[in-house]
Amino acid sequence: MPLQHDRSDGRSRKDNRAGCGKIGLGMGKWKRAISLTKRWTRNQLINKYGAICFYCEEPFANMKEITLDHYLPLSKGGISELENYRLAHFRCNQAKNDMTPEEFTEFQNGRG
Ligand SMILES: [Zn+2]
Repeated sequence: MPLQHDRSDGRSRKDNRAGCGKIGLGMGKWKRAISLTKRWTRNQLINKYGAICFYCEEPFANMKEITLDHYLPLSKGGISELENYRLAHFRCNQAKNDMTPEEFTEFQNGRG
């Protein structure tokens, strides 16, 4: 019975778990490449605008608070380039969501 024989061979697969780990490591490298670009973009924006939130103009307490916001949302034709990124608190970024700058200003004014 060849099938049964293969099954007993399957036991040795446990030893091959390291192989899966290698794939995971590859993904990690890929993610790191993206975050490096983001870090670069963030640093450029801090140099340009200072370490303050573009929307509420409050300084960031720490780096973890900083998110990159698309000034003109991708859904409204914005691009993923430095010129279209602004620094924002996570909460401010969430509040703006995918509104255009004009819509967001109206939204803020409307709330008083
Ligand atoms: Zn803010």
